[in-house]
Amino acid sequence: MKVNMMHGAGGEVMGELLQTLTKFTHNNAGGIGLEAMDDGAVIPFNGKNLVFTTDSHVVRPVFFPGGDIGRISVCGTINDLAMMGGRPIALSCGMIIEEGFEIDDLAKIVASMDEALGECGANLVCGDTKVMEKGAIDGIAINTSGIGIAKTIVRDNGLMPGDVIIVSGTLGDHGLAIMAHREGFDLGEQIKSDVAPLWNMVEKALDAGTIHAMKDPTRGGFASAINEMARKSGVCIRIQEDKVPIRKNVRSAGGMLGIDPLEVANEGKVVMGVPASHAEAVLSALHSDKYGREATVIGTVTKGSHVIMETTIGGERFIEPPMGDPVPRVC
Ligand code: MG
Repeated sequence: MKVNMMHGAGGEVMGELLQTLTKFTHNNAGGIGLEAMDDGAVIPFNGKNLVFTTDSHVVRPVFFPGGDIGRISVCGTINDLAMMGGRPIALSCGMIIEEGFEIDDLAKIVASMDEALGECGANLVCGDTKVMEKGAIDGIAINTSGIGIAKTIVRDNGLMPGDVIIVSGTLGDHGLAIMAHREGFDLGEQIKSDVAPLWNMVEKALDAGTIHAMKDPTRGGFASAINEMARKSGVCIRIQEDKVPIRKNVRSAGGMLGIDPLEVANEGKVVMGVPASHAEAVLSALHSDKYGREATVIGTVTKGSHVIMETTIGGERFIEPPMGDPVPRVC
């Protein structure tokens, strides 16, 4: 069997490939390791929780509405650190560049990486550059790794019955911005990617109340993230369809393309489970940050299994984990 594009699409098919790619017997440096398949690893060191993660980026086009491969490559790593409760400290950057790539474009990419770092006080402290001959790689690929420090470790498997599910804003923006842009759709107002570094927002939420679980709904979107959280936590999640925030133009583009906004990547959103008694405090903390103004409660956690959507017309259906994100090369 050979690797195909679905193996990189962040859904169930990718999960099958990861069974091969995660067969390490040396997989844990003392805290939370590869076996947890969480957003990052935790390594206890001198009484502190060191968080460590890595992320590679191949998004097409390199410059898209709302961001570029530079911003996304910094935000991807910063957000994975944040999802573990980690304040981002230092990042590395590995760039693989195709012969013929415009140096002016590289300068723009670096400037937007720097801006994203500055937004949350992180620094890029080491890097590596490789150039490959024309055709050996499609333009540019960027890997970043990052370390952070967590006061409180947050996992993706800590949901408890009685929690409410909060999303920090509208869903589907990034995936459908990329897709609508590629298709050349004119929907009046352009759909923009939500790509953003979320540490400041997450820090405010952590200070405001208890957060039982967090995950960023990237490839595979909300549908993938919420199913992973439910499965790992051993709970049932009930989502109210009429509470799920989706922009009108995102919904229209999704309708035209036959793409469910809940199955495409977000690059500046958090899904969290919070005890109901802390929901108000956490929500107002999220609202106080520029990336969390539209945060809202969309569901509840109960005993059982599966993710159930209570639909607007009064029915119920499962939100299934998607086979993969329907938008290729989305991040
Ligand atoms: Mg993640």
